[in-house]
Amino acid sequence: MSTITEPARALPITGRYDVAVVGGGIAGVAAALAAARNGARTVLLERSFGLGGLATLGNVVMYLPLCDGHGRQVMGGLAEELLRRSVHELRRPERQMQFVPVPSCWDAGGDQAARREHRLEAAFNPFSFQIEMEVLCAEAGVELCYDTRLCACLRDGARISHLVVENKDGRTALEVGAVVDASGDADACALAGEPTVSLDTNVIAGWHYLIVDGKLTIQAMSHGFSENADREGSDGPFFSGVKASEVTGQVLATRRWIRERVRGRRERHPESEVHPFALPALPNFRMTRRLDAPFTLQAEHMHTWFDDAIALTGDWRKRGPVWALPYRCLRAERVRNLLTAGRCISSAGRAWDMSRVIGTCAVTGEGAGTAAALAARSHGGDCHALSVPALQEQLRRQRVILDPALVRPVAAAAAAS
Ligand SMILES: Cc1cc2nc3c(=O)[nH]c(=O)nc-3n(C[C@H](O)[C@H](O)[C@H](O)COP(=O)(O)OP(=O)(O)OC[C@H]3O[C@@H](n4cnc5c(N)ncnc54)[C@H](O)[C@@H]3O)c2cc1C
Repeated sequence: MSTITEPARALPITGRYDVAVVGGGIAGVAAALAAARNGARTVLLERSFGLGGLATLGNVVMYLPLCDGHGRQVMGGLAEELLRRSVHELRRPERQMQFVPVPSCWDAGGDQAARREHRLEAAFNPFSFQIEMEVLCAEAGVELCYDTRLCACLRDGARISHLVVENKDGRTALEVGAVVDASGDADACALAGEPTVSLDTNVIAGWHYLIVDGKLTIQAMSHGFSENADREGSDGPFFSGVKASEVTGQVLATRRWIRERVRGRRERHPESEVHPFALPALPNFRMTRRLDAPFTLQAEHMHTWFDDAIALTGDWRKRGPVWALPYRCLRAERVRNLLTAGRCISSAGRAWDMSRVIGTCAVTGEGAGTAAALAARSHGGDCHALSVPALQEQLRRQRVILDPALVRPVAAAAAAS
């Protein structure tokens, strides 16, 4: 490929922040809220024009359970606050649109037996949820920058000193204390020179709404994919989310599939009016690129307690499993003031498939945002210098659940008690 050299230019420094969060998906919103509530001057950079990422702009509206399926809540803090906020204006279920409130047994003093049957979950209206997250960010004092894409990370030794961004002001720089990469694609990690892993196993997928005879219906549309994030057992064609041509390729292939399905439906029901509505505004990529930290969460770590755990999570695929999420999976190694959150933490294969869902992205966001704020306050942003017990103490104050007993399998926990 031939090249051209871009002339060097001086960039205006348009802001100075204790914590910069890259990406306004669920993980980024949780990270920014946690950082700002911990007193950090916080900026949230989002390339699009809404908060929630795949959950809202991608129409992936199922907030999967925060409990273990045996009636025990394993995620609290911001994961629960966002869950409840996502449906707080919903007065009754709207099954057709799949707006489903949190079961009342999970209210304070609710029926314990019912909690084994009805899980702590909900399904939300993606547009209402976007607006609610904007309100939360404004209340917390997060400075929100839409239409702003991270383009480069400038390093000063082992730390990022400035983020270079592009928006309507052109190309500018932000001076930063600590950075949370919640881009879903580990963009900040890759741009800062941190080791990453990328996969080209994404399939055609695009959750969208149809209007059928005047009624909105959600279409949870995806080709089959593998829990191991590999091609075996998945339906091609396959796409990487970090190559420009394949990003567009996935979007176009998905829209062709939607068009064919709408045409088929019209042929089967010629009396019906069927129209696509609210196509995903973000490509529905499950796994693109992630941090490759010295320690990566793997399938065998299910039911394992880690002394540096920053949260627990259940497993959306089945009742029973509980996982602890160690701080090591969020923390960059070479760049000391960089953490990850959400679907780009260091988690692989079946563990990654478990950790990439909305509630789990929220708990890693809260962990990363809190750690970044504490590191910026006391250690010049150095996330390796941070005391993990102090971080855990602060997270517990924020109602994050960090109980080693919950990580044991239910039968073992019952025998021990
Ligand atoms: C088809 C499909 C179905 C799914 N079903 C479910 C489900 O039923 N329930 C569930 O809980 N989860 C589901 N998931 C997974 C879940 O939705 C996502 O993994 C999760 O929402 C990811 O959150 P995140 O914040 O880590 O990343 P994202 O949601 O990807 O957010 C990243 C944000 O960063 C922004 N960004 C990216 N790069 C930059 C940059 N360089 N500069 C500035 N901004 C940037 C993006 O615009 C985006 O807003 C599904 C995923 C897919 C694809």
